[in-house]
Amino acid sequence: MPITDPALLKIVEERVLNKLICRKCGAKNPPGATKCRRCRSRNLRPKRKRIGVKK
Ligand SMILES: [Zn+2]
Repeated sequence: MPITDPALLKIVEERVLNKLICRKCGAKNPPGATKCRRCRSRNLRPKRKRIGVKK
């Protein structure tokens, strides 16, 4: 189901992408986490993709 409302899209975008992914086990962690909640690794990467063109 595609989202057409741009305002809604922005909210969804932030909800979905504002996460930290563990490089070790691939678990999703809440934004602001410093350690993985699953393996406690600090090797986290932010999940950020560009859906719309933002610069
Ligand atoms: Zn992990």
